[in-house]
Amino acid sequence: MTRHDPECIFCKIAAGQIPAKLIYRNDHVVAFHDLNPTAPVHALIIPLEHIASLSDLTAGDSEIAAEILLAARVVAEKTGVLESGYRLVFNNGADALQSVGHIHAHLIGGKTMGWPPFAGREVAHGEE
Ligand code: AMP
Ligand code: ZN
Repeated sequence: MTRHDPECIFCKIAAGQIPAKLIYRNDHVVAFHDLNPTAPVHALIIPLEHIASLSDLTAGDSEIAAEILLAARVVAEKTGVLESGYRLVFNNGADALQSVGHIHAHLIGGKTMGWPPFAGREVAHGEE
């Protein structure tokens, strides 16, 4: 059975109920540009099915998990950062500032990044 949360903003994007700037879509995932980009390239890759977080993935979700990772290369190529480099980030839970409860990989690129990622806090969800 396909998991779906009618209240979830990313389920609505997956269903085409609210608009997003789509980059890529297949039978398992959809990728689109982040509404508030933190870098010249900032895409989100989400499963079509509603899974709240990485912590909710189970062994039965192995195909979905793989499809999210496999989509990264396609999205990197389509957004022009395949050669220059990119970072894939999953914010999971409160300490990681996850703000949308539907698994999403941030694909970020187009500029030189810092490491470790917690050295700066350009984005602090929930603190506005
Ligand atoms: P996180 O804080 O890891 O949960 O990331 C959620 C991301 O979703 C943020 O970077 C938001 O800018 C982005 N976002 C929220 N709503 C939308 C939307 N309707 N379309 C595109 N990106 C969105
Ligand atoms: Zn959802």
